[in-house]
Amino acid sequence: MVKKTAPRSQMTSEEFARAVRERLEHMQGVAPSSACVDDVYQAVVAVVRDHLMDSWLATKDMMVHGSTKAVGYLSAEYLLGSQLPNSLLNAGLTDQFEQGVRSLGFDPEQVIEAEHEPGLGNGGLGRLAACYIDSLASLGVPAFGYGIHYQYGIFEQSFDGQGRQVEHPDYWLAGGDPWGHEDLNRSRRVSFGGRVVQEGGRRVWEPAWCVKAVPVDYLVPGYASGRVNTLRLWEARSYDEFDLETFNRSDYLGAVKPQVEAETISKVLYPEDSTLEGKTLRLEQQYFFVAASIADAIATFYPGQDHPDLATLPDRICFQLNDTHPVIGIPELMRVLIDDYGYDWDAAWSITTRTFNYTCHTLLPEALEEWSAELIGSLLPRHLEIIREIDRRFVSDLASRGTGTDQVDRMRIVTAGPDPKVRMAYLATVGGSYVNGVAELHSRLLKEVTLKDFSQVFPDKFMNVTNGVTPRRFVRLANPGLSDLITEGLGTDAWVADLDLLKGLEPLADDPAFVDRFIQVKRQNKEDFAAYSRRRYGFEPDPDTMFDSIVKRLHEYKRQSLKILAVIAQYAAIKDGTADPAGILPRTVIFGAKAAPGYAMAKLTIRLINNVARVIDSDPETRGLLSVFYPRNYNIELAEHLIPATDLDEQISQAGKEASGTSNMKFALNGALTVGTLDGANVEIRERVGAGNFFLFGLEVPEVTRLYEEGYDPRSYYEADRRLKTAVDMVASGVFSDGDRDAYKPLVQDWLNKDYFMTMADFSAYMDIQSTIENAYRDKEGWARKAILNVANSGYFSSDRAVEDYLRQIWHTGPLGQE
Ligand SMILES: *Cc1c(COP(=O)(O)O)cnc(C)c1O
Repeated sequence: MVKKTAPRSQMTSEEFARAVRERLEHMQGVAPSSACVDDVYQAVVAVVRDHLMDSWLATKDMMVHGSTKAVGYLSAEYLLGSQLPNSLLNAGLTDQFEQGVRSLGFDPEQVIEAEHEPGLGNGGLGRLAACYIDSLASLGVPAFGYGIHYQYGIFEQSFDGQGRQVEHPDYWLAGGDPWGHEDLNRSRRVSFGGRVVQEGGRRVWEPAWCVKAVPVDYLVPGYASGRVNTLRLWEARSYDEFDLETFNRSDYLGAVKPQVEAETISKVLYPEDSTLEGKTLRLEQQYFFVAASIADAIATFYPGQDHPDLATLPDRICFQLNDTHPVIGIPELMRVLIDDYGYDWDAAWSITTRTFNYTCHTLLPEALEEWSAELIGSLLPRHLEIIREIDRRFVSDLASRGTGTDQVDRMRIVTAGPDPKVRMAYLATVGGSYVNGVAELHSRLLKEVTLKDFSQVFPDKFMNVTNGVTPRRFVRLANPGLSDLITEGLGTDAWVADLDLLKGLEPLADDPAFVDRFIQVKRQNKEDFAAYSRRRYGFEPDPDTMFDSIVKRLHEYKRQSLKILAVIAQYAAIKDGTADPAGILPRTVIFGAKAAPGYAMAKLTIRLINNVARVIDSDPETRGLLSVFYPRNYNIELAEHLIPATDLDEQISQAGKEASGTSNMKFALNGALTVGTLDGANVEIRERVGAGNFFLFGLEVPEVTRLYEEGYDPRSYYEADRRLKTAVDMVASGVFSDGDRDAYKPLVQDWLNKDYFMTMADFSAYMDIQSTIENAYRDKEGWARKAILNVANSGYFSSDRAVEDYLRQIWHTGPLGQE
C-alpha cells in the first residue's frame, strides 16, 4: 500500500487571503475592514468549495463515464459535525487558512467556531453514515450519500430549573447554507396517494399528489485521495408555489397551503432513537428521499436515455440501506422497472435484488420497523401491491424449498390477520443480496436470534462488518496533541490514511520518555477541555481529577441508570464515612445525552442525573472528591472536545443490546481506558487491546438469556447489596428532589419490579471493579501504558477498514481509475 501523507494544496496563504477578500468584496458586498466573523466564515467556505470544485467535477465525470461501480449510501440521517476543519484538512488548506485569515485581521479559531454544525442525525447511526462517506471519498471509491435536507435537525437540548430536558428547534440554516449547493435543474417528482387502475395488461398508478424533490449537494472531499464525492440531500418543495386565485380572494394563508404541506416532508428530523413512531409523515419522508435518489441514480448513469438498459444497473451502482428507513426503495425500484420501463417481474426482481443490500442496526425486536399495510396502501397503493406480490412469491419459494409452514408463517413479509403489517427488515432481507450486522457479536446474534429463520434458509446472505470511525475527524482533528505525538512516534503521518500503522506504537508503551509525553498530552487535553467547558457551560472540571465519561443517547439499555446509581452509592459512602477520604480517587463523572422527547423514562433519568449533580456539587463534604457534570446538548462538537480529555470511558450497556457502539472506538483511539460489558464492539476492542487493558464486568449474553428464562427478580439484588439499597432508597426518599418522594417513582418502581435491562443484577460487579480501576489509575505510568496499548491496537476500528470490508464482501467494487 502506498503511504499517503497529509495533502497540501499548491495555494499559498496570500492567495487564500486574496480569494477571501475578493469573495467578501465582490459577492458579499462587505469590505474586509467592516466584515464580521460570520462574513469571513461565509467567504472562507466559498473559497474552500471553489478550490474543491475541479476535483468534484472530475470525480463525477469519471464516475459516470468510467466502469467502476458506484456506491449509493441511502440513509435517513447524517450526523455530520462541523464541515470547515474537515474540508480544510482534506483539501490541504489548513495552514493557508490560518495564516490567510490572520493576515486579514481575524482569529482562525473564531472563524471555525462560527459554524453551526448540521445535526441531521440522532446519534450513532447518523454518525456512522457520516464516517462512511468520508472513508469512501478517502479511499477514492465513487459514491453518493443520499439523504434528507431537514430544515430542523436534532433538537437543541437545555435543562430547566428542575433539571428536566427542554427541547428547542435546531434552526441550523439560520446563517444560510454555505456548504450546500441547491441544484434546481436536477429536481425529481415524487408522487403519493391515489389509486391503481388496470389498463390493458398493465397496472397503472394514478397518484393524488406530488412534491418536487430538490437536491442540495455537499462536497465530500477525500483525505489524500484527490477525489471529491457528493452528499445529495433532498428538500421537498411544492409545484404550486403559490395560488394567486386564492390569494386574490384574500385567503392569504390558504394560498400558501400546498407549499406548506409539501415542505413539511423535509421539515424536521424525527428525534427517535431506536423505537418507532408510526407516523404517516415519517413514511412520506422515507419514500420521498428514496424515490428521488433512485430516479437520480438512473438519470445520472443513463443520461438522456429514454430506453436505458437497466439490466446493467447493478453494475453501475449498489444501494446500501442504512437500517430499515430506506427499505421502501425495494418496491420502488420494482415499480420503476416494471411500470416505467416495461421490464417483466423476473427481470425486475433480478435487477433489484442485485442492487440492494441491508445493514441491520438493532437486536431489539420492538425496534424493527413495521408499517401497517393500510397506511402503505393509502400513501403508496402501487407499492403495497408489489410488496404483497413479493410476499406471495417468497412464500411459494419457501414452500418449494421445503420450509415448514410454521417457519413460513413466521417469515411472512406481510403478516396475516385483520391489521396486516409490513415488516421492513424482512423485506430488506428478501429483496437484497446481503444483510450485515455491525459487530461480530451482533452479526452472530442476528443469525441466531433476530433473523434466525432467514439465516437458516439463506445462510450465504449474512455478513458482518464491524463499524468504524473516521480517524480524520476523531483523532487528527479532535486530538492534535496526540496526533503530533503519534506522528513523531511512528516517524510518519501516514497513519491518518492507514490506521493499522498505529500498531507501530506498541513498543513505545515501554519507552519511559514516550509514556511521559503521552501523559503530558492527556493532561493538556484535560486542561483544554476544562477551559472550553468554562467558556461554554460555565463549569470548570478539575483536571487533577479522573475524567470519567458516559456520552451517548439516553436509553434504558445503555444504562446511564447504572452509572448514576454507582455515583449515588459513592456519595453515600463519603457521607456516612464508609469511604475513607484519603483512599478516595477524585473523579469528575461527565454525562452527555439527549433523550427522545416522548421517552418518559429516559427523560426522568436526565432529571435525576442533573439533580444528583446539583446535590453533590453543592455539598462541601464531597468537594475535591466527587463531582458530576452534565453539559447540555451532547453533539459532535462536544464529543470532539471531551473524548480526547477522557481518562475512563463507560460502555456499560446490558450484554446483547448494543449492536456495536462507535463511541467506544473513538475513546480507545484517543487513549481512554474502557470499563464495559461484553457487548457490541466492546468484545472486539477488548480482544485487540488485550484483556489486561480493558475493565470488564457484568453478565454476559448467555447469563442474561438464562435470567430472562428463569424469571428475573431485581428486588433480590437490591436486598442483597447494601450499597445498592442505600442508593435506590436515597432516590426514593427525595434526596434528589427536595424531599419529593414521588419525583422518581416510575424509575424506582421500574428498578425494583421490572428492570428489563438488569441494572440491579450488574450493580455489584460494577461497584466491585471500581477499586481495580482506581488502583490502576493511581499508577500513572502504568495507566498511560495501557492507554497507549489501546491506541496502538485500535487501528482496526477505522471506518476505512469498515468500508474496505463492505467493498470486498458486499459491494464488490473499489477505487476509481483502477478498472
Ligand atoms: C459517536 C457518537 C454517538 C454514538 O455513540 P454510542 O456510544 O456509540 O452510542 C452519538 N452521538 C454523538 C454526538 C457521537 O459523536
